[in-house]
Amino acid sequence: MIYRRSSALFAEAQRYIPGGVNSPVRAFRAVGGNPVFVKEAKGAYLYDEDGNRLIDYIASWGPLILGHAYAPVIDAVIEKAKKGTSFGMPTEIETQLAKLAVSMVPNIDKIRFVNSGTEACMSAVRLARGFTGKDKIIKFAGCYHGHSDSFLIQAGSGAVTFGSPNSPGVTQGTAKDTLLAVYNNLESVKALAAANKGEIAAIIIEPVAGNMGCIIPEENFIKGLRELCDQEDILLIFDEVMTGFRLAKGGAQEVLDVDADIVTFGKVIGGGLPVGAFAAREEIMGHLAPDGPVYQAGTLSGNPLAMSAGLAMLTELNNNPEVFRSLADKTKYLGKGMAQVLTDNNIPFQMNRFGSMISIHFTEEPVVDFESSAKGNNAIFKKYFHGMLNQGIYLPPSAFESYFLNDALSYEDLDETIAALSNIAKDLH
Ligand code: PMP
Repeated sequence: MIYRRSSALFAEAQRYIPGGVNSPVRAFRAVGGNPVFVKEAKGAYLYDEDGNRLIDYIASWGPLILGHAYAPVIDAVIEKAKKGTSFGMPTEIETQLAKLAVSMVPNIDKIRFVNSGTEACMSAVRLARGFTGKDKIIKFAGCYHGHSDSFLIQAGSGAVTFGSPNSPGVTQGTAKDTLLAVYNNLESVKALAAANKGEIAAIIIEPVAGNMGCIIPEENFIKGLRELCDQEDILLIFDEVMTGFRLAKGGAQEVLDVDADIVTFGKVIGGGLPVGAFAAREEIMGHLAPDGPVYQAGTLSGNPLAMSAGLAMLTELNNNPEVFRSLADKTKYLGKGMAQVLTDNNIPFQMNRFGSMISIHFTEEPVVDFESSAKGNNAIFKKYFHGMLNQGIYLPPSAFESYFLNDALSYEDLDETIAALSNIAKDLH
């Protein structure tokens, strides 16, 4: 495929925007080459500035669970936009979306809308600190909770793709309150809790991790965290920015059958517009301003366009929960087909899948945490990524990302993807 116009647009973008992008992973640094500039998208397909059609496996990194330009979402946004784009005053639609989200997600009484997943996680931690009166948090190496200072300690996603999991600009003072544990290793968490007894406000985790590739929580790991939190008076924060409204109506809480104390959302809840949210039971949310002393605010929070997109999206999912099974089935089919091709070609790999989250790691050892994920062979990944891209298959441009399937993908699309892998598999050594 030809990406001439994309290359020219990228050159121009780099003159005015750092790295030519507004979020680092988009720049293709991990895989080399120039990013693809998208012109428009519909359903499962991206159409780029060179006129190529690409089958999309990132779906804007998750939000577009029903495919691009999904008619009910687009119609809702257009109708809302005609009536004004922002008021900074309460609107009925905020309550409608809040009510629906609270009815779909277990264990939450109230929800506060923000503008991104970063804001949601940052605010959830402040709330946990304000509620418990304690300062420290535990996070897991390789988990990404947005780019707020406390989380850029051994973070996943772009932060690790670019080799800077501890970013300059994060002060020692902030870093010392973030304790690092090993994913799927309950003992590592217990050791931190014992060494910092009475000081830990919260444990924040991606209940199914997606930012070091997809990592499946081992049985009893998450349940063990819940028990530890109960014993030590620590709040358990589930970062469901990826898993929320993707794995099930009730997200990972429902699928893993574990209650979190605070849940954060992003992506699907905004239907492709900038939205995040955090939610908890009344006792905790009551600490938030203006009811309580923990401050949190936003000029554009609860924005009518974003709320209308979110409401249209969640309404569809609420009325048609078979989508979650359909997506998981498609993901399983894709995974099975791709695994067969790789096996037939004697390429060492690990495939991790949980519902509609999936990733391939080019390594012989099971990938269960950040350390094992980092052992993936990036030279092979690069060949794989570009080999697929050249055939019109758009995968995440880093091995530290999960793929996000959308329900507009047909089985023919999946077969085309598996066939594309077949075409390049012999070169993946
Ligand atoms: N948490 C998780 C689990 C994420 O995957 C992301 C983004 N990929 C974030 C938080 C941050 O969300 P945002 O990019 O909207 O700030």
